[in-house]
Amino acid sequence: MSERADCLVVGGGPAGSSAAWVLARAGLDVRVLDKARFPRDKVCAGWVTPQVFAARGIDPAEYARAGHVLQPITGFRSSLLGGRPVEVDYPEPVSYGILRREFDAHLLRASGAPVVEGAAVRHLARERGLWRVETEAGTFTAPWLIGAGGHFCPMARHLGARPGRGEATVLAREAEVPLSPEQAAACPLRGEVPELFFFPELDGYAWVFRKGDWLNIGLGRENGHHIAVQLDDFVARLRQTGRLPADLSVPARGHAYLLYGHARRRIFAEGALLVGDAAGLAYPQSGEGIRPAVESGLIAARLILEAPDDPRPERLAEYPGRLAARFGAVRDTAPWLPTGLKRRLARWILETPLTNRRLVVERWFLHRHQAVLAEG
Ligand SMILES: Cc1cc2nc3c(=O)[nH]c(=O)nc-3n(C[C@H](O)[C@H](O)[C@H](O)COP(=O)(O)OP(=O)(O)OC[C@H]3O[C@@H](n4cnc5c(N)ncnc54)[C@H](O)[C@@H]3O)c2cc1C
Repeated sequence: MSERADCLVVGGGPAGSSAAWVLARAGLDVRVLDKARFPRDKVCAGWVTPQVFAARGIDPAEYARAGHVLQPITGFRSSLLGGRPVEVDYPEPVSYGILRREFDAHLLRASGAPVVEGAAVRHLARERGLWRVETEAGTFTAPWLIGAGGHFCPMARHLGARPGRGEATVLAREAEVPLSPEQAAACPLRGEVPELFFFPELDGYAWVFRKGDWLNIGLGRENGHHIAVQLDDFVARLRQTGRLPADLSVPARGHAYLLYGHARRRIFAEGALLVGDAAGLAYPQSGEGIRPAVESGLIAARLILEAPDDPRPERLAEYPGRLAARFGAVRDTAPWLPTGLKRRLARWILETPLTNRRLVVERWFLHRHQAVLAEG
């Protein structure tokens, strides 16, 4: 198979499907190329804020009516690992729990763009003003390419990224398991209130989160070591305290990604932009990456549409500035604090109800200070 399009989107996750949605609606001939077949899974806790649904024009109630798991979240219970938990509650849902295999497939279908599945990229190159992408499902060419292939995106590698080498990387492990009716009845966890357990220096956290009859347990930490052992310890602790059914097996899977402001990837080239995890855009405090993935997909697609006939890198050099306008300026260095002070500060932030609510939950996790990304 050999096809020519206006824009190739490598990766059909939230970032790629969002870019494809904007471009397809504007009348461009788009192809989403993904190595997977949808619905496919993704290692993730699976909480998304209402702003994500709104940015993609999806009504959460309709999403749930279509038979998808949608767990409303009306509070968070957070603490330092082994510390005193603080619970904050809201009168209405402030976030939702979803299953990624359902959510990503829904977003991709809703993009309206043709998808080529089983299209693992083997090689890509810029030749005479066109991107030429060889995949397991055929060869595709287009003047534009959006790299949305996640942390290990082939386009990011083409632009020089070397995942796992010289990048401050979040290593994470997670298990998502169904509860039997007996386990569901005995499990004391409440779906509306995910539980977060932070490391003493706030460089990551563990979580346990029930979505209907599914349980998601995981742990992520920047530059983390031995996270498999840390997750086993965490699971053992949950079992000892009766938070987890004793007979529940927890088959964890790992993944890696980069945080916005800590990532140093090149994110544009002639006729090409990186979006989502490929660009390293997850929120630095919570590690949530779905909203930045969706928003960067929208921002990148709109930049292309401003001048579809002008793929010059000089024009695309605006892209990092557009991301900074949305996600904040990138500082070269984080303020240095001695470890002891950092730990005392972390305890104070988490254990003071007001800072826990306003800073940890509303600013770091819900990003309530940022309205839905405006159209156009
Ligand atoms: C353990 C864990 C928990 C997380 N929890 C949350 C959370 O609760 N909420 C949240 O907002 N974020 C969370 N994140 C982050 C979030 O999962 C990512 O930021 C988000 O998935 C990024 O979306 P994306 O579209 O950029 O990439 P992805 O969702 O990774 O999609 C990339 C797509 O590219 C395809 N692809 C990859 N390589 C190729 C190739 N060579 N050829 C063709 N196709 C390719 C893949 O099949 C995939 O479909 C979590 C991450 C981890 C690791």
